[in-house]
Amino acid sequence: MIVLQGGTIVTAGGLARADVGIADGRIVSVGQSLSGDDVVDCSGCLIGPGFVDIHVHFREPGQVWKEDIETGSRAAAAGGFTAVVPMANTEPATDSRALAVSMIERGRQVGLVELVPAAALTRERRGHAVSPVEELWDAGVRIFSDDGDSVAGANLLEEAMRRVAGLGGVVAQHAEDATMTRDGHMHEGTVSARLAIGGLPAEAEEKVIARDLELAEMTGVHYHVQHVSTAGSVALLRDAKSAGFNVTAEAAPHHFSLDHHSLEGRDTMMKMYPPLRTRDDVTAVAAAVRDGTIDAVATDHAPHTVEEKEVPFEQAPRGVIGLETSAAVAWSILDGNPIAFFERMSVAPARIGGFVEQGRWPGVGEPANLVVFDPQMVWTPDKFESRSRNSPWIGATMRGRPVATFHRGRQTYRSADR
Ligand SMILES: [Zn+2]
Repeated sequence: MIVLQGGTIVTAGGLARADVGIADGRIVSVGQSLSGDDVVDCSGCLIGPGFVDIHVHFREPGQVWKEDIETGSRAAAAGGFTAVVPMANTEPATDSRALAVSMIERGRQVGLVELVPAAALTRERRGHAVSPVEELWDAGVRIFSDDGDSVAGANLLEEAMRRVAGLGGVVAQHAEDATMTRDGHMHEGTVSARLAIGGLPAEAEEKVIARDLELAEMTGVHYHVQHVSTAGSVALLRDAKSAGFNVTAEAAPHHFSLDHHSLEGRDTMMKMYPPLRTRDDVTAVAAAVRDGTIDAVATDHAPHTVEEKEVPFEQAPRGVIGLETSAAVAWSILDGNPIAFFERMSVAPARIGGFVEQGRWPGVGEPANLVVFDPQMVWTPDKFESRSRNSPWIGATMRGRPVATFHRGRQTYRSADR
């Protein structure tokens, strides 16, 4: 039996000092002074459900020099994750049963996290015809999104929403009105004006969310807003939720910690879409993560090589990695509220992604998908399990880090620093 010794268990009901015994993939005992043949020192640590990331890019198939399912899974485990949802903007795009099944099987083979891909909402992510959502659902897909691009056509989106609603799935939107962002490379505001770089206005995101909310209300689908980045989007969500809409949302760690001033030096490591916004936007997104208006933290882990990023700002690909730093950044705004921390990092994303064995508070009989998180560990990101290292936090001082991760009772990560 594996024993997690001396930690504090986090559940919806509160915090409790107790040891956790793991055998045959499950939690078999919770109590004081347990003994076992493999003891993990958890003193000073929080023990909670393994993190779940419903928005990653593993680049397989198509661009495996950036990342693949194996390196992405290793990065996830090192970040405390036990389940991930890779987006469908692979090459080819995940728009068929066969492709979805092969990704799920590859994830199982690697065996470090539970992996269920999102599927493209439209065939080849081209925005012309709804993908075969019924057969994708049968393959296990629960989230449908053309992420990387927004679904523009209202009629098409409405049809997709009706069909996905009939299945009980989630329509997730990368909200960006492409007609407003064509020449954009960063947030349209004071910094982009000073640098004379084309901007992506906040309205490009908000306009799409406002339109989609009307369609969502009409169709009754579970509508999920991906990587919320503006105060206006937060306000739309707050209103929709108080009106009882079936809507959820996620925010990426960079959108509740960094603002557009990080781009003053044209640093390509700070280039991502949606872009880093204003300080007021960051404050609004962080407040929404704290109060639950934004249900889940999701990294939008988007690997690119150093060579790809070492080009003039306008030519650089968008996106940053995030799996190995997500918990520390989330903890920086949820410090003092471990229950909310695990709600946003595990429980809510597991619910949205339809992972029945994930995001479950630790207790006897529950599947042992767990993370041991040291809330005090101070560390500096430098080396990554990811194949890429395009992180905006290299060299930063972070507090809070996973010490060990368990997926189906098997240790998938153990920190060398403790
Ligand atoms: Zn996106």
